[in-house]
Amino acid sequence: MLYDYDSLLKRAKEKIPDIMSDGERFQLPEANVIHEGRTTIIRNFADIASAMRRDRTHLFKYLLRELGTSGDLADTRAIFQGVVPESQIKDKIRTYLEKYVICGVCGRPDTELIKEGRTTQLRCHACGAILPVKTAI
Ligand SMILES: [Zn+2]
Repeated sequence: MLYDYDSLLKRAKEKIPDIMSDGERFQLPEANVIHEGRTTIIRNFADIASAMRRDRTHLFKYLLRELGTSGDLADTRAIFQGVVPESQIKDKIRTYLEKYVICGVCGRPDTELIKEGRTTQLRCHACGAILPVKTAI
């Protein structure tokens, strides 16, 4: 059977969705941020931490330091003192993800933070890379 160029191109395009849906894509829930009085609350904080497979306290401490504020963890929510813009919260969560979750070699999030003495390493379960993490919290 012969194909002309257009139909080959069409067939190639049709195959793309199969490839894309093959590997599961990492979806981080979007931060649900509200302001209550003089505080800023991430309502789905626990979901975000568990999607990254990271300890809630670790992520929380990182955000407190980066935002330069104090706060509390209450159930599934994180509460910060002061009115922090939503965009800034999302930005810091993204930085955390890049720094402490995503593998620098293969770009996948199937990683684990391992503390050894005073150093912390990011170990990737997908490609086996072991990377030093610069700033331990
Ligand atoms: Zn990797």
